[in-house]
Amino acid sequence: MDIRIQGVSRRFLAHGKVIPALDGVSLDIPARSIFTLLGPSGCGKTTLLRCIVGLDAPDEGEIRIGGEVVFSQAQGIFVPPEKRGLGMVFQTYAIWPHMSVFQNVAYPLEVRGLSRDEIRKRVGRVLEFVQLSGFESRPATRLSGGQQQRVALARALVAEPRVILFDEPLSNLDAKLREETRKELRAFLTRLQITAVYVTHDRTEALSLSDRIAVMKDGRVLEVGTPREVYFHCGSRFVADFIGRANLIAGRIRGRDKDLALVDSEIGPLRCAAREGLSPGAAVTVCLRPENLRLLPAAGQGELNRLRGRIETLLFVGEAWEGEISVGAKRLLVQLPAASELREGNEIDLGFVPREAVLLAP
Ligand code: ATP
Repeated sequence: MDIRIQGVSRRFLAHGKVIPALDGVSLDIPARSIFTLLGPSGCGKTTLLRCIVGLDAPDEGEIRIGGEVVFSQAQGIFVPPEKRGLGMVFQTYAIWPHMSVFQNVAYPLEVRGLSRDEIRKRVGRVLEFVQLSGFESRPATRLSGGQQQRVALARALVAEPRVILFDEPLSNLDAKLREETRKELRAFLTRLQITAVYVTHDRTEALSLSDRIAVMKDGRVLEVGTPREVYFHCGSRFVADFIGRANLIAGRIRGRDKDLALVDSEIGPLRCAAREGLSPGAAVTVCLRPENLRLLPAAGQGELNRLRGRIETLLFVGEAWEGEISVGAKRLLVQLPAASELREGNEIDLGFVPREAVLLAP
């Protein structure tokens, strides 16, 4: 089921002030994809999720699920949550501690009045799917955090929803478990071929889990794309900075050389991927990811941009060196191969491929 959101706004009134939690949001969420709403606290992610589920109603706009209008301000339509056929997994899994795994998962079917046989069959099937067969009679509290998360997922799936929505479901797990569960969840959702809408403020989670990401700020959607598109080809300083570590270098366009832009920057002349609509004289920001910068031998490699800098800080993090290199008055974040012999205070030569440098508005 695809979801189409058109011109959705939601305003709240708090202490006599109007808060535009959602400000004209339009989004197409393709069927059978994992679609993430990513943004800082207060940007409107949860409000949008609640409007999709039907726990809240927008002030303006329209929401369609699989072609069916579930909300339309203009037509006065509001389909209640229980009629939308959606499943939801929350941050607090809301697993009932006094119930067994079976009882927890069976609950939504009991509420619907299904027969005992049918319930047993469907719960068995979904527990097998989330790899919890054999745990049926285990009290829910005697499970690990990851297993509890799978019970919550099973309970959301047992009613065979058209779409499943997640509100920061992994934020209560420790870092290692979060990583494992993330992998598991992606595998489950891909196997299920279900549309999933996932809310998080954690960029790593968004990048590793999603098919597509919408980056939100102040109630608006700034950018939508695949994880690689929003990471490597972001269109604004905010997204560049929010979605990962970024070197943002001020500059001005000097000219063009085929598909490359020549930029006079605060760290010297650079060649970058050209962008339409930027003519000579335009102020720009060059966005360079730490991993775009690589160590260069003392000579050669003419096609790369070359920079000479001094290692100011250096941290060995196992798989790489992370550090700061000063180039003139600017400090650049770098991530360099762990095998290189590097020392703080040393001068090094760095380079980057022009097309990997993204030009942004200043
Ligand atoms: P977080 O990651 O912190 O949950 P979020 O991106 O999900 O944040 P929302 O919870 O959607 O953000 O909130 C968006 C804005 O609307 C915030 O400024 C919030 O304070 C405000 N808001 C949300 N619900 C209400 C409400 N019931 N009454 C008043 N203001 C609200």
